[in-house]
Order: sequence, then C-alpha cells, then structure tokens
Amino acid sequence: MSRKKVVVLGSNFGGLTAAISVKNELDGDVDVTVISPSDRFLFNPSLIWLPFGKRTPDDITFPVAPTFENHDVDFVHAPATELLLDQQQVLTPQGSYGYDYLIIATGYQNNHDVVPGLGPNGNAYNITTLEEAIKAGEGWKRFLENPGPIVIGATQGAGCFGAAYEFLFNVSHQLRKNGIKKQVPMTYVSPEPELGHFGIGGLKHGETLLEMFLKKEKISAVLDTGMSYVDEGRLVLADDRKLDFNYAMIIPPFVGQDVVRKATEISDDKGYVPVRDTYQTEPYDNVYAVGIAAAVDVPWHTANPVGIPKTGFPTEQQAHVAAKNVAAQIRGEEPDVHKTFGDIGAICVMDAGNNGVIILADKMLPPRKHSVMIPGPQAHAMKIAFEKYFIWKAKHGYVSLP
Ligand SMILES: Cc1cc2nc3c(=O)[nH]c(=O)nc-3n(C[C@H](O)[C@H](O)[C@H](O)COP(=O)(O)OP(=O)(O)OC[C@H]3O[C@@H](n4cnc5c(N)ncnc54)[C@H](O)[C@@H]3O)c2cc1C
Repeated sequence: MSRKKVVVLGSNFGGLTAAISVKNELDGDVDVTVISPSDRFLFNPSLIWLPFGKRTPDDITFPVAPTFENHDVDFVHAPATELLLDQQQVLTPQGSYGYDYLIIATGYQNNHDVVPGLGPNGNAYNITTLEEAIKAGEGWKRFLENPGPIVIGATQGAGCFGAAYEFLFNVSHQLRKNGIKKQVPMTYVSPEPELGHFGIGGLKHGETLLEMFLKKEKISAVLDTGMSYVDEGRLVLADDRKLDFNYAMIIPPFVGQDVVRKATEISDDKGYVPVRDTYQTEPYDNVYAVGIAAAVDVPWHTANPVGIPKTGFPTEQQAHVAAKNVAAQIRGEEPDVHKTFGDIGAICVMDAGNNGVIILADKMLPPRKHSVMIPGPQAHAMKIAFEKYFIWKAKHGYVSLP
C-alpha cells in the first residue's frame, strides 16, 4: 500500500507543529508536505518590541526549510491559491499537490476596511505583521523627534487585545526611558466592555488590575466604543468624539486568508473554517483546520463587537489534536481526540516593558473554575525566557516539548 500524503498549509505555529507532529505520530511512515508563502517562521508575540529596536526581524524569525528537512517534511515555498476539495488537490503557482489528508493552518490577515484610514499606508500604525511593525518602528523614531499625544487601541471586531495592551505599556515604558513621559498624554481605545476583558470575557480581578496599571502609567481609557475613521493625526470615534495624536497604533480585526474564504464549502463569512472538536471540517472527514484559521464562535454579545484572541498555546494544542486524529485515520481508526477551543487552558504573559502580568486559566473561555493573574517584573523575565525557549524549540522542530 502506498504511503499516505498529508499536506499542511502554513508554516508558523499551527502548520509547523501539525506537520512535524504527524510525522512523529506515525514514526515517519507518511509523506508530509508543507505549503506556505513564508519561508521564515515568525514569532509574532515579539512584534510588540520591534518598533523600539529591542528586537530585529532576524531575532524573531528563522528559516523553516532546514527545520522541515531535518524532520523529513517537504517544503513548498508558495501560497496555496485554490483548494479543490472534492479532487483532494491544492493549487499553487508552482503546480498542484494531491493529498489524502489536508491540514489548514493559514492564520490571519488584517481587515483594514473596518475603519477607513487604517491600512499598511494608512494614518495609524499596526504591529500585527512584520512589515507593519517595521513601519511602526520608523514612525516611532519620527515621533521621538516630535512628541505629542498617543492613541493605542483596537477596532470594533478586533480580538488581539493582549498585543494592544502590551504595546500600550511598552510605549509608556519607552516614553519614560526617553525622559518624555510627562509631556505625552496617552489614551487606550477599545470596544471591550471593561478593561481587561481581553476578548476572553475577562478574568478574576482582571479589571481592577488593569485599572491599576493604567492609573499608575497615567493612561486614560475610552472603552466600549467603535471607531468611525482615522484621519492624519486624528481618530474619530463612532460617537464623533475626536482624539488627536502624534502617534497611533490601532489593531484591526483579523480575517482568514483569501484561499480559504474562496473554498465556500468549508469557510464562514470571515474566511475561517468551522470545525468539529476533532478539528475536522464539517463536510470533509479528511480536511482539518487549526489555529487562527479555525473558526471560534464568540459566546457573548457586546454593544461593540469584540473578537476572540486565538493565541499560540491553543494553536499548538489544536495542531497536536489534528495530528493525532490524522494519524488515527491513517492507521484505519476513528479520530478520537476531542478538545474544543474554549476548553483549552489559557497560558499567557502580558508584557509591560519592565514588568507585566502572568495569566493562567483552566479554560480559554468562561465558565472557568480557576484563573489567576500574577503581576510583577518576573512576568517580563518570563516573556523573554519564553521567547528564547519557543524559538529554539520551533527551530529544532521539537514539537512534542511543552
Ligand atoms: C502582535 C501579536 C502579538 C501576539 N502575542 C501573543 C502572545 O503573547 N502569546 C500568544 O500565545 N499568542 C500571541 N499572538 C498570537 C499568535 O501569534 C497566534 O496564535 C499564532 O500566530 C497563530 O498561529 P497560526 O499558525 O494559526 O497562524 P499564523 O501565525 O498567522 O501563520 C499562518 C501561516 O500560514 C501561511 N499562509 C498564509 N497564507 C497562506 C496560503 N495562501 N497558503 C499557505 N499558507 C499560507 C503564513 O505564511 C504563515 O506561515 C500574538 C499575535 C500578534 C499578531
């Protein structure tokens, strides 16, 4: 019997973990091919430090081809452009690739259209991609020569609130380091109904803790708000309030990649893939989606839409579940590992420049039994240690390590 073919789309947290895990699960007795337009792994959590020169692109990326080669995984450096799911084929500009099993880990792209004036060349910076974080750094240098009010936040429908808070406190820390903290008013703007909601429904004592952080840093907050548009130097809120700025960083909502959105048999209106708790798609037993590419239903209604942060830890967990289930199917068994996004634990660090908060919870989404937030300088140290550890682990493809 010929060896089964597994194709994985995406080479970052979800794709790299899933591809190497499938190989490991089957002791190498499977052909795995990763297709991705990125030939470098990007450790996105460190994008918060890039604009201040605390990290360079080389510090937080590494080439993926050697990692895959060391684990006998084929790597195709190209985007998937079309999914022919009934024919079990993935099209790319370099040709088509047939599969027995497909794992989609194509992550996110920014939806800049939600607020006019955002965008790669818009009126506010953004740190969610390497290219945009580099531009945010160029803007930061110009800002230091001409300091003034700062606005940092997230639009209606955004979900990556952790990065917005981290950037906010890192900016405050940098202002102090540059001796200009007192002359720069800072405002945090967010659709969250309260501080510390984080898009995960908040955590015990989270609101009080975040209020203390903002008070200590003398940052004002405008919450539960939508944004109308961003002009040069001015953010206009949905209720027409205006916030002038010399520097703004605004996180937009994420949506799925176009190749997934076009595959309407498996995708929703955001371009994400609804999945079962095995990470199989509803219509296809042999097609999986993990990480940001997998859809998660928002379990609450807020006046202004608040998205869900699909962070690295659940992404890795989902990739392991998908890999185990693909391996089971290849062995002729039923996929029997089940784990919903909401039931995966939350392990996160919110960095604040020279301190931060360690966030632990038994579940990503409420109701939870346990959650704890531990503030202090050890959080900053832990974030740096985690960055070094994770990049080392991913670079070597040691995906079975925690
Ligand atoms: C600024 C920022 C800070 C963050 N901080 C944290 C944090 O502190 N802790 C935490 O846990 N998480 C954090 N996250 C979230 C974390 O980065 C995500 O959970 C993680 O990136 C999800 O991995 P993924 O593989 O699903 O998607 P991605 O990382 O987006 O990877 C998607 C992959 O798919 C590829 N791809 C794109 N289009 C195609 C295509 N057409 N065909 C094939 N492949 C394609 C991409 O090139 C990429 O390789 C942060 C995210 C951001 C943006």
